[in-house]
Amino acid sequence: MKELESWILKGLKTSFSKEKYIFYYIAANWSTIAGEVTAKHSKPVRLIGDVLTINTDNAAWSNNLLMLKKQLMGKINIFIPMEAGRKHAYKIKDIRFHTGSLPPDPVISQEDEKPFMPKLDSHHRCPKCGVMLLPGEKMCGKCEREEIQLTREKIHKILCKEPWIKHSDCIKQVNCDKMVFNDVKASLLEYAIWQAIKKDSSSAEKLFPVMLERSLTPDQITEEILKKALVRYKRSRIYVSPFRKQLHNKQK
Ligand SMILES: [Zn+2]
Repeated sequence: MKELESWILKGLKTSFSKEKYIFYYIAANWSTIAGEVTAKHSKPVRLIGDVLTINTDNAAWSNNLLMLKKQLMGKINIFIPMEAGRKHAYKIKDIRFHTGSLPPDPVISQEDEKPFMPKLDSHHRCPKCGVMLLPGEKMCGKCEREEIQLTREKIHKILCKEPWIKHSDCIKQVNCDKMVFNDVKASLLEYAIWQAIKKDSSSAEKLFPVMLERSLTPDQITEEILKKALVRYKRSRIYVSPFRKQLHNKQK
């Protein structure tokens, strides 16, 4: 529970960025913490140190909440994620209620304005190239893309050799999920269809997309199957204008 949040908190360097993150977390979950009705009339607007400021619709709501301050603070504090590796959680110690617009934020020093950077763990590294990884990553983005490309090339080679192969058999040769397999197959099929319907296509070129599309070995493909498939490929790939169709029919 809240594991990601606690790691993010740990990764944030300055207390300013931690505060900012905790504030963001409280504001994002405000209706869960305070309840829907209260959340409709109030919202957290600022957290400075351990003091949370909540803006309300009107003075009556401010008053309502002021009376419930202790309970509300308890609810908020339970909700704040614990920083990984820390014994004590961050706690809100006071809430101020405010109606109307707020005075501007106090000036923040340059030192505190560092970007939100999760801390890198020097032992958590990419198994392929060794760069440090973010929490939760298994491989760096670059290596992951290379890996996917390599898998696609392997699938492509297998399909060129055995176009009838099914995913369940392909995975015996290369570890790939069905979506990647189907995607490689679809792009190869598109190319193969264009090869099959060109003027001087060989019989191998005509057979290839049919084997690929229907997972059939050459001996399973009858003249009939082949003929029908080629007619369908031509129809779907070559646009014949109605005018030319008419001409064609007249010539017959
Ligand atoms: Zn890598």
